[in-house]
Amino acid sequence: MKRVAVLGGGPAGAFAAERLASAGLDTVVIDEKLAWEKPCGGGITCKAYKRYPFLLENDLPKRFVTATTLAASGAGAARLALRDPLVIYSRLDLNRMLLERAERAGARIEKTRVLEVTPNSRCWHVRTAGGTIDADFCIVATGARNPLRNVGTEWTSADTMLALGYYVEAQQDHIDIQFLPHLEGYIWIFPRCGHLSVGICGKSEPAAALRQRLERFMAERGISRKDGRFYSHLLPSLDSGSWQANRVAGDGWMAVGDSAGLVDPLTGEGLYYAIRSADLAAHALLAEVGDLAAKLAHYRALLRHDFAADLEFGAHLAKRFFVGRILCGAVTERMVEFTRRSPRFSLIMQDLFAGRQPYASLKRRLLRNLNGSLYDLAMSLGFARVVPGRSPHWLL
Ligand SMILES: Cc1cc2nc3c(=O)[nH]c(=O)nc-3n(C[C@H](O)[C@H](O)[C@H](O)COP(=O)(O)OP(=O)(O)OC[C@H]3O[C@@H](n4cnc5c(N)ncnc54)[C@H](O)[C@@H]3O)c2cc1C
Repeated sequence: MKRVAVLGGGPAGAFAAERLASAGLDTVVIDEKLAWEKPCGGGITCKAYKRYPFLLENDLPKRFVTATTLAASGAGAARLALRDPLVIYSRLDLNRMLLERAERAGARIEKTRVLEVTPNSRCWHVRTAGGTIDADFCIVATGARNPLRNVGTEWTSADTMLALGYYVEAQQDHIDIQFLPHLEGYIWIFPRCGHLSVGICGKSEPAAALRQRLERFMAERGISRKDGRFYSHLLPSLDSGSWQANRVAGDGWMAVGDSAGLVDPLTGEGLYYAIRSADLAAHALLAEVGDLAAKLAHYRALLRHDFAADLEFGAHLAKRFFVGRILCGAVTERMVEFTRRSPRFSLIMQDLFAGRQPYASLKRRLLRNLNGSLYDLAMSLGFARVVPGRSPHWLL
């Protein structure tokens, strides 16, 4: 293999290019915008910066957020302290840093739009707005709006959420997450460097209806839209049935990040999975595991083992989480109440939001903590009292 074309220079593409160029491959990154302020919170979890310390140890302007407030209509709010802060970047800065790292590793960067990719006997013709580039292999990293029909995830309407909102000139130190009745999604207020991002994401609901919900929320909270800048984008959120057949690799290409649908279906975290999948794709491509078909199979297996199987499990939970009912109320309402009343349950929620709690073992952990959480709940409601030296003493 002589030349790899990386289509798209967001976090996934830039990081794949860095890895491949460092290993000595002739790597070209093609992006129509290069570094830009993609609509995104820019929040990096501790899971991401602990595995990739350069995501924390750098000179970029950043914000550290150590608290989140979860709220659901009818259940009030619960404050969640984050043991490890969420680090928030401007996407312009983050993308630029990642592209510079790729360039320093030896990748060539081209600013142009990819119009079409066509396989041709033993190589790819990448037709761009500026000409044609031939490559032996393609890394597809064109994001959730991937316009290339023959490579990357084949989306159905059940596989994405619409995300839209406003950047507003205001400040607060914590994140707000608001769950709404019958919405498979949520509203957020996200503190960023110099402004707030106030937005909503949702599945199976038209953009106009989501925007109405958001604007009503903003009016109730007294958040002015007057000088706000509107944004909208797609957030991959693969349906539970879409994971098994998800098109992450094919003859002569591998897809990474959003263009492979690799986003947490509950929290919307995508930056970690963009960078991690890029790392795994480079690893598989460079591995000495036989022919190209073996490398593609290796990539699929690495992804599945590393995180995709867990995200698939999360997709099974997502619908039940957002719009399901439990104990005569919405799951989200009960979750907020439990988080507020039970320190043990709150700890589980913290780990879930930090990306530290795999979905596959969530049920086991919840069941293991059930007694403790119910005891906390009973204590907070005054139905139990502590008798020193004895197990919890129930009044009911
Ligand atoms: C509103 C919103 C908030 C979010 N907040 C968070 C958050 O706080 N934390 C988090 O972890 N994740 C968040 N995400 C998800 C995160 O933004 C994505 O998962 C992440 O950007 C994926 O990176 P990527 O490189 O795969 O794709 P992208 O960042 O979308 O990069 C794709 C690149 O491809 C380029 N491109 C596309 N088509 C072409 C073409 N034809 N020719 C040339 N170039 C092309 C684009 O210019 C772009 O630079 C959020 C998403 C949304 C929509």
